[in-house]
Parts: sequence; structure tokens; C-alpha cells
Amino acid sequence: MLIDLHSHTTASDGQLTPSELVNRAENRQVNILAITDHDTVDGLIEAQNTIDEKGLKLSLIKGIEVTTNWLNHEIHVVGVNIDPNNVQLQALIALQKEKRESRAIEMGRRLAKAKIEGVYEGAKALAGDGAITRAHFARYLVEQGVAPTFQKVFDKYLSRGNTGYVPHNWVDIEEAIVAIHKAGGQAILAHPNHYNLSNKWMRRLFTEFKEAGGDAMEVAMGQQSPQVRLQLAMWSEEYDLLASQGSDFHFVGRWRDLGKALHLPKMAKPLWLDWPIYKKLTEAEEV
Ligand code: AMP
Ligand code: MN
Ligand code: MN
Ligand code: MN
Repeated sequence: MLIDLHSHTTASDGQLTPSELVNRAENRQVNILAITDHDTVDGLIEAQNTIDEKGLKLSLIKGIEVTTNWLNHEIHVVGVNIDPNNVQLQALIALQKEKRESRAIEMGRRLAKAKIEGVYEGAKALAGDGAITRAHFARYLVEQGVAPTFQKVFDKYLSRGNTGYVPHNWVDIEEAIVAIHKAGGQAILAHPNHYNLSNKWMRRLFTEFKEAGGDAMEVAMGQQSPQVRLQLAMWSEEYDLLASQGSDFHFVGRWRDLGKALHLPKMAKPLWLDWPIYKKLTEAEEV
């Protein structure tokens, strides 16, 4: 059974449309896929429509990835099995959309001051109707030849302390978890080892995430050493958080892909064991 609970589409900074994404997941024999765009649920309807129209075997889990503030850090909280129409969740999405838009305008202003003009407009054009992210700024700056690679643009212009960086002002972890729960979903701490936290701070994050009502944390990601995966599994057990897995797929590249190299260490307690869709699929397998 292939389960991937973290992926992006053109509704935020992914490069495949929701339709293309579910087709790719089907071809890669993913059984259960969550679409979790940054602060938006706009890709979900198209994805489900494609699955229905084409009769794909894939089951779609409705998700979102909410950007939050925790102390001085930006922490991502994935919600799965959400009702995208829930009023509280919609209110949070509207708030984050405003924050994204005003941050993007300010990023453009700061870059223009540094004589790099028109970047907000360029990034906005790439984002289209989708949630505008720093990834759109990065793509535009690479296209313009301002820096040679995505990574270099982030290092030089978009990371903390650089010209185009605007201090963030997102909702906090608890607000994200509450909205996800109100919408009937489960809240997952995304990629805990991507925040450059020391073990001591990581432990503080797990403690506070759990206290705020969090349900699970990501343990398995596609590109990851066995040691890191095992360490995350041990922490998930220690902090009584269920274990999740996801590729965080954004585009077709050499290393990352939907459903690729995703499996949990034996000791980990999977988030999905009591999901009706999971039970149905495993029962069908046993027959
Ligand atoms: P935002 O939520 O607007 O701050 O944008 C964050 C997105 O930019 C992430 O979801 C990644 O897709 C991408 N990103 C952030 N930092 C980096 C980085 N250092 N290198 C490459 N991509 C990054
Ligand atoms: Mn992203
Ligand atoms: Mn993330
Ligand atoms: Mn993500």
C-alpha cells in the first residue's frame, strides 16, 4: 500500500496542476494521496473531479499545509481529512491569504529598493490565482538571471536576513490546529528536521505541538537518511504523536517523487490505521 500525505499543486507552489498531480500519483501506483497546498484548498475540487471522471483507483485525502509562527520560526502544520468548506478553516485561509499578499508586495518593494524591479509582478504572474509563495519569487528571479539556481536565490535574496526577506506574521500553531480540528481533520507537524532547530528546541517544539492538541508528526519523507527517520520515529513515540509520511512533492525532479521511498520504521504508530479508506483498502487486499 502506497500512502503519500504531503504534496503540492499549482494552487500554491507546486508545478503540476491538480489534474496532472493525481494522474502522476495513479501512474506511480499511489493508493492514498493527500494534496496539501500552502494555506489553500483550491486544488482539491479539480483533483477529485479528475479522479471521478477518469475512474482513477487513487483515493484523495483533502489536506492543507498551514504556515505558522512559533517563536522566531516558521513552522508548517499539515491538516488532513479536512472539510474544505468549514467556516473556521475558511476564515483562517482568508487571513493567511491576506498575509501572503501583503508580504509579497513588501518583498517586491524591498527588492525594488535594491534595484531589482518588477519582481512582485513577475512572481504574481507565476502564481496566477494560486497562493503566492517565496518559491514563485525564486522561480521568477532565476528566470530573470538574477541568480543561477533556486537555492542560490533563497540564500542570497529570500532567506532570513536577506534583501527580499520580510519577517513573517502568520497565525500561531494553536490557531492552525484548532481550525484543522474544527474542519474535522488531524494536525501533523510537517518535516520537523527542516527548521534548523537544535535537539533541545526540537523537543520544545514537540512538547508545545502536543500541548496545543497536535495529532501527529511527519516521520518518513522521501529523501532522508535511515538515522533521521529512526530518530523521528523515536521522538513520535516519546511525545505520543502518531507518525505520518509524505513526499512534499513540488515538481518532477531527480530525487523526489510521489510515493517514493515512503515507509515508517516498525516502532512508529501510523496515523491512518483507523481511517475508513485505509481499512477498506486493506480488507480488499486480504480477500
Ligand atoms: P513561503 O511559504 O511563501 O515562505 O514559501 C516557502 C516555500 O518556498 C517552501 O514551501 C518551499 O517550497 C520553498 N523554499 C523555502 N525555502 C527554500 C530553500 N531554502 N530552498 C528552496 N526552496 C525553498
Ligand atoms: Mn512549497
Ligand atoms: Mn513545508
Ligand atoms: Mn509542503
